[in-house]
Amino acid sequence: MGTYVRLLIHGVQGSEVADLCLAELARLQEVFDRFDESSEVSQLNAQAGAGWVSVSEDLFAVVQTSLEVAQASGGAFDPTVAPVVDLWGMREKDGRIPDHSPPDAASIGALLQRVDYRQVEINPRLSQIRLPEGMQLDLGGVAKGYALDCLLRLLEDHGVQSALIDLGGNIRAVGKKPDQTSWRIAIRHPRELDNLFAVLPAADQAVATSGDYQRFFFWQGKRHGHILDPRRGYPVGALSSVTVIAPTGVLSDALSTAAFVLGPEDGKALLESMPGVEGVFIDQQ
Ligand code: AMP
Ligand code: MG
Repeated sequence: MGTYVRLLIHGVQGSEVADLCLAELARLQEVFDRFDESSEVSQLNAQAGAGWVSVSEDLFAVVQTSLEVAQASGGAFDPTVAPVVDLWGMREKDGRIPDHSPPDAASIGALLQRVDYRQVEINPRLSQIRLPEGMQLDLGGVAKGYALDCLLRLLEDHGVQSALIDLGGNIRAVGKKPDQTSWRIAIRHPRELDNLFAVLPAADQAVATSGDYQRFFFWQGKRHGHILDPRRGYPVGALSSVTVIAPTGVLSDALSTAAFVLGPEDGKALLESMPGVEGVFIDQQ
């Protein structure tokens, strides 16, 4: 998934369960990695314009949540943003995006025609999805959170009492630490990456952070982060990070990306409209 994974699992079967988690992540990567031609999402993208496609439970669930958050955020989160992400060259090589000049406004405008979550159709009864021609899904803003939920289920099935899982900034604690104190989850300082901005006591919730410091490139002194405003086609710059605490990983992941695009006021309104959701916004200053 192009990011780091940290698994801290206590108990006699800890390392075996960790191996199962890694196998589960490898399985999910084959569903959600759109840069792998043989992945399920790539196959769905390849059938854009060709009618209804039957998909796995995993792909259906993630697309469904993506469309819900897209609607709730007025399109600030949009899983069809893929063509614009590609135009901006937001792809890492050797762990970072090489610096390059931004695309021109005409090219961005032309590709925005192909970005519109309202044109994605889903059929829950048959677990089918239909993409119009030219449309491509990028589930990078939500798939890690979904993977977190899958790992949580796996830990529960194996009776794990104490664990901490971090999938590239999508974090969930299970139970307490072995010494019976609470897990604590830190929010990293977005500009002083070795320092902590705040520490949260972990409850039975998922914590996701979207920021401009993980994936970005510089051009003529300006930072261009990997999260784009799908309505305009440009990277968003008001915030340096947003952390969202939510009942599930998939929701916290999608909402953190959405709130990052919406900014401090509209982002706060979105989070306040969702039951059981809280957030921390850190601006550029
Ligand atoms: P995250 O780190 O969860 O905030 O996700 C960022 C990733 O989501 C990017 O690398 C893109 O693949 C994708 N993405 C970028 N902008 C958006 C957006 N506005 N809506 C949905 N996905 C996005
Ligand atoms: Mg996200």
